[in-house]
Amino acid sequence: MYDKNNIFAQIISGKLSSKKIYEDDKILAFHDVNPSAKIHILVVPKGEYMDYTDFITKAPTDEIKNYFAKILEIIKDLGLDEAGYSLVTNKGISAGQTVFHFHTHIMSGEK
Ligand code: AMP
Repeated sequence: MYDKNNIFAQIISGKLSSKKIYEDDKILAFHDVNPSAKIHILVVPKGEYMDYTDFITKAPTDEIKNYFAKILEIIKDLGLDEAGYSLVTNKGISAGQTVFHFHTHIMSGEK
């Protein structure tokens, strides 16, 4: 079950601070606190989705499309389309998911 007090829910609500890159009524993007690459950004939908499966299964199609389109916009705004980037999302403990609010990692800047 979705935990309304997870770290990213607290960041979305403003309870916890973050280094924000982008925000609108549906999406928040911020720097990962423990970066695995020179540039490491997390993009989260504001809705209560635990992981990719949950998001794709439950979110309306326009919300899904908007989310992934916004990720590309952020990538382009930061010049990462030219530099190259990785997109990662972990689903489940065995895959390394530690925060159970769906998010996509954008990583760039290193091989
Ligand atoms: P995952 O392991 O895929 O669930 O990714 C969770 C990510 O959230 C990790 O890369 C953490 O470094 C990052 N993280 C945890 N707490 C925070 C926080 N307060 N602000 C920014 N990033 C965080």
